[in-house]
Amino acid sequence: MLPLLHFRIYSPRIPSIFLQTPHRHRTLAMLAHDWQRVEKRANVPAYTLFTKPIEKSQLDERDYRLIKLENGLLAVLVHDAKADIAAASLNVAVGHLSDPDDIPGLAHFCEHLLFMGTEQFPKENEYSEYLSKNNGHSNAYTAPANTNYFFRVATSGLPGALTRFSAFFHCPLFAPSCTTREMNAVDSEHSKNHQADPWRVFQLNKYLTKEGHPWSKFGSGNRETLSAAGRTFKVASKLNGNGTKNGIHAAADESVPASPVSSDGSLASSPLPSRIPSPVPSNTSVSSENEPDGGVIGRETRRRLVEWWNKEYCAGRMRLCVVGKEPLDELADMVSTLFTPIKNREQDPLPVIPDHPFGPNEMGTLVSVQTVKAFHAIEISFPLAWQWPLWRYKPAHFIAHFTGHEGPGSLFSYLKNKGWVTSLSSGPQPLARGFEMFKFTIHLTKLGFENYQSVALATFKYISLLQSSAFPKWYQSELVKIARTRFQFSEKQNAESYAVSLSERLGKPVPPESILSEVAVPSDWNSEDGEREVREILEGMRVTKGRAVLMAKKEEHERISKNEHWEHEKWYGTGYRVERWDPSFVEQAEGPNDIPELYLPGPNEFIPANLEVEKRDVLEPAKRPYLIKQTPMGSVWHKKDDQFWLPKASLALELRSPIAGSSPRADTMTRLFADLVNDSLQEFAYDAELAGLVFNSGSHRLGLMITLDGYNDKLPILARRVLETVRNLQVREDRLVVIKEKVKRDWENFFMDQGYRLSDYYTQYMLTHHTWNIAEKLQEVSSVTQEELQRHIDDFLARLSIEMLVTGNMHKDEAISLSEMVENILNASSIPADETAQRALILPEGSNFIWKSHIPNSNDPNSSLTYYLQLGSSTDARLRATSLLLIHMMSEPAFDILRTKEQLGYIVFCSELQLSGASRLGLRLVVQSERNPAYLEQRVEAFLDLMKSKIEDMEPIDFQQFKTGLQQKWTEVVKDLKKERSKFWEHIDSGYLDFLRRYNDSDLLTDITKDDVLDLFVSRVHPLGVKRSKLSVQLQSRKPRPPRISATAANAFEALVRASTTFVETSGWKEELADENPLATHFAKYWQDALSGVDNYEELMMKIPGLMTQYPVDEEVCDVRTAGVTFIENVQDFKATLEVTELPEPLVEWGDLPLAKL
Ligand SMILES: [Zn+2]
Repeated sequence: MLPLLHFRIYSPRIPSIFLQTPHRHRTLAMLAHDWQRVEKRANVPAYTLFTKPIEKSQLDERDYRLIKLENGLLAVLVHDAKADIAAASLNVAVGHLSDPDDIPGLAHFCEHLLFMGTEQFPKENEYSEYLSKNNGHSNAYTAPANTNYFFRVATSGLPGALTRFSAFFHCPLFAPSCTTREMNAVDSEHSKNHQADPWRVFQLNKYLTKEGHPWSKFGSGNRETLSAAGRTFKVASKLNGNGTKNGIHAAADESVPASPVSSDGSLASSPLPSRIPSPVPSNTSVSSENEPDGGVIGRETRRRLVEWWNKEYCAGRMRLCVVGKEPLDELADMVSTLFTPIKNREQDPLPVIPDHPFGPNEMGTLVSVQTVKAFHAIEISFPLAWQWPLWRYKPAHFIAHFTGHEGPGSLFSYLKNKGWVTSLSSGPQPLARGFEMFKFTIHLTKLGFENYQSVALATFKYISLLQSSAFPKWYQSELVKIARTRFQFSEKQNAESYAVSLSERLGKPVPPESILSEVAVPSDWNSEDGEREVREILEGMRVTKGRAVLMAKKEEHERISKNEHWEHEKWYGTGYRVERWDPSFVEQAEGPNDIPELYLPGPNEFIPANLEVEKRDVLEPAKRPYLIKQTPMGSVWHKKDDQFWLPKASLALELRSPIAGSSPRADTMTRLFADLVNDSLQEFAYDAELAGLVFNSGSHRLGLMITLDGYNDKLPILARRVLETVRNLQVREDRLVVIKEKVKRDWENFFMDQGYRLSDYYTQYMLTHHTWNIAEKLQEVSSVTQEELQRHIDDFLARLSIEMLVTGNMHKDEAISLSEMVENILNASSIPADETAQRALILPEGSNFIWKSHIPNSNDPNSSLTYYLQLGSSTDARLRATSLLLIHMMSEPAFDILRTKEQLGYIVFCSELQLSGASRLGLRLVVQSERNPAYLEQRVEAFLDLMKSKIEDMEPIDFQQFKTGLQQKWTEVVKDLKKERSKFWEHIDSGYLDFLRRYNDSDLLTDITKDDVLDLFVSRVHPLGVKRSKLSVQLQSRKPRPPRISATAANAFEALVRASTTFVETSGWKEELADENPLATHFAKYWQDALSGVDNYEELMMKIPGLMTQYPVDEEVCDVRTAGVTFIENVQDFKATLEVTELPEPLVEWGDLPLAKL
């Protein structure tokens, strides 16, 4: 499911799947004697605490406490003595399914507006500014049945952050001045999602729901839906004599009904006439008091929001998690003090919707859906009862173990061998408190799409097999063992995801002492109940109960079906049709399994037997790996774990070859090679993956990258098999066809991706030496033959440079023997490292390049700008520290100005951009917007101009806070093995071996002054900077923008009207349209109504087009400013003029080995 997830500050993120929150009836069995009251002391309100210890894994050094405040808010507190990052997450058990029917998107809108200032901290970006200075950031998402707000911050900043955060829940301002702007933000968000298939399919699935079921709601909302109730109100209040009718004083309106009400009757009780100020005055919002509050419509929308919030945001519905360094007593006092002021509104704490959205109309159907991207997939869903009450045995997960299996005998293996599928996932999908789905998601090949009925049939046959099979108890025992091992040796998550998962988990119907353990680990089948629960679910998984959704582009559907009838979903316009399976298919699907290739999996051989870890006392963990071996072929780096003490290890292996990316065709073949390695190991490696040992092979411009992560016990076994596959891969024609199709599709779909990804990609491409772009490779992929690829693989493997890193629970001798295995199996000869160096291109000083192109998806209304500034060599330590500090200082204001204030679009960020080889420092500003990219460029430059004075005026204390925040970030403790590996790998991969860089830079930062930052800014970042090296990539949407009218033209027209008639109240349009540059159609419609009955009506209306030409909208004229700009005509020619970066050399000689380099 797609929750609405925001990355409000640093970078945008694609929505991912979130689990839902808890149950009502069986919520934590709160036996009174397990709870102890803590009386009120001084300023700390009373609360109760749970007295039993909370079960945790042996390795977990954190302490936990559960408390309940007087207002019913439940909180879990986590004391982590070693933490350097604190976090909090507050989960409210209300989401978009609780939207009023006449304001779709209100819960989501609430989540946006809640952050805009509080009575205690009225400045609207106070919270994000505070977090930014304290190495923190925040985010939130709105799901169907819950809304989650969370942040992370340096531990020292927790009390300050929590004070600001808690105020959002008891004294938010919902600043009126932000209403229109945040409505626009929600609108941009919907616009961003509009062409994204996951959102389109998600909403279609909701739309095709039993009539009247809340699941069908449109949770994102947009400007239309959020303002609809306000518009209705406005019309109603005018008819009611409360205002004016379309600008004309309504004298003759007595005949209309006195008090029209909206669908839920809310207007009748409205305390607000249309022209008085909003309930909370806007003058507390210091930064934006002069901005419009959206007029009658904005005020009414906000009033409804406040009314809804007052009803739904009840303390009893809130679950909080705080992770901090403070002792538990201190955390408890802090939480009680800060969160007790939230009101309990006597609402059902965890409301449940027991009714399932699938009715008879939905069951037994096949829905065909048109996609935007080119892919083929089928989803098969069965209604599933709410699974939380079944936490003990987790029967749906038991079934998912079989249905999602990829080993021999599995559904996936059968379909893959037919050449029909590329991936299959399956399992329970929680939708809301009260109902779930059991779902299969199968990605199909072209051939599979043509045979979709057979794919669906095989799925039903596999379910028949399960229905008729006995399940010996070892199946569940194996799952229990794997889950228990995972729980026992789980790595520490980062603080904010941990806080989010705990706040969601609080309230699961498990005993409070088991909130960590029982949620993760199922129980053995000691009674009949376990198997019975499984059988009950399987019983409901029948063709006549489920729904299949077949996804492909329109032309693909029409290629295999004669039916050309399509309907369209309301919010995204997605084309679809619903049919019923024909009776003969149903009959076959209901029959017993007759596919002999399908059978249940055997025992898993990869479950680790040796989980021993030798823990010693370490004063301070080593900060880098050691070079333990060097040969002409490459280096082996190693670090024995000295901080996590888990039975896990990590291996990174990079094979570079000068032929890997020597041409677009070679580059394409290297990618096919990497994918074929994954493909041929899929069945074998699946058991390892289940048991917690994961491998991956990926290609890049210089070769192959192979990684293995997980329990070290059986890691060498998997590593051997992976290497043997790499060395001996025999390209099979049937698999090559499938993989070529998949790669081709991935690349084609890349061009349908979000605009900002494309502008970022082109920026990278234009500044990378010797590389090929996706369009060039796309031309090659179809014609690659089996023989040619086999030859490429042989040539690739003949001469290699190999870099290797082993970390975790492995000793030096084990790492050495792994490296010997690698060399023996690959048996290659060496090449000089400089043949495979990564190099970038240098923009000359004093340059201002612009490359213009188009967004390929002609339905995407968004354009995109990546505005890149090269700042110098990354090996200059002082320049590096200064640059990164500057970027850090710019990122929050960039978001605040360009997104929050100017509302350019949903995706706006400022961050570092690393080019290939990491030899250049660079910053980029990215804006994705419905506005013209040339206009965006102008706004970015205006922001840079503003930023100059922000730096100049910055108080020493604020400057110091930015430095401290960055130092905290750089010296942050590495949280897990994988992150440690990737930090080390960055320096091995670049060739600089500068492992201690972040610590050294942190020291260096102490001496950096504001003048250093300002000098850099003025010379290399500010638009007038003489040493600027700048490239921007502007991708323009092809979708025609509906014409808008400028403020000047609109005012000129208003003046014309005023001069020619006295009948009309002329200023109403500003409020009604609530947009500085309204759509021309909206503007014309408004005046058409307002002027009806006026004599020279038509003559006046005819003036509008002329005024629009005379006074165009700013962004239409901004394109003329080209002084000093070099427009790039031909990208290859441009690249050829640029200097290439130097070859990387180690910046540090570590002297780990007695001998110098060989
Ligand atoms: Zn949002």
